[in-house]
Amino acid sequence: MRRLENKPPLPKTFFEPNDWAFQSRENIRLYIKKGGVLNIRSSRGCRGNCAFCTTPRLPRELKRFQARDISLVVDEIKNAVTGYGIEPVVNFTDDEFGDFERIEELACELQRRNLRAAFSLELRAAGMLKGSASAWKDLHSGGLCRVFTGLESLNKNTLKEWKKPVKPEELLQSIEKCRSGGILKLRSEVDEACGAG
Ligand code: SF4
Repeated sequence: MRRLENKPPLPKTFFEPNDWAFQSRENIRLYIKKGGVLNIRSSRGCRGNCAFCTTPRLPRELKRFQARDISLVVDEIKNAVTGYGIEPVVNFTDDEFGDFERIEELACELQRRNLRAAFSLELRAAGMLKGSASAWKDLHSGGLCRVFTGLESLNKNTLKEWKKPVKPEELLQSIEKCRSGGILKLRSEVDEACGAG
């Protein structure tokens, strides 16, 4: 693989997620008019180690999972919604949003602030196994509409080779749990292969 010559040195410190500024969103109304949604990042890094992914190969400061406080995340949603008068339809652009408890915390905080938002998350299949079907249903009532997750293969040897920490049957369970809670899932190659769609 060709390496970049004269790479600029990495800064000595990085802003922690809790110190990130809220994005200015002057063009958000136009963007939404064209079919966009409010994109928000709530974390940095990922706890996965998938063989095909660049995130685990980043410098330690960037690859380690660091979550932003949910209260700040909801502040940013509220700011965008009230500041620009847009519908609260939010797409989280994290590598992974975090544990099941963190999703519950988000849904509770939105409810506590009386902010009815629809949101979609990027989740790891390993973490999705944690919630019961009824807990997923509650999250759906709390605004979770879509989950995007990488279900790359139903072959256990391939999963092992790609360093995915789940078995094929667990991947299928994770789909089933989401679906039984009424949550739509983005279709994936595995959905097609197993006829789960
Ligand atoms: S779970 Fe996603 S972001 Fe994390 S290492 Fe795997 S592919 Fe990369």
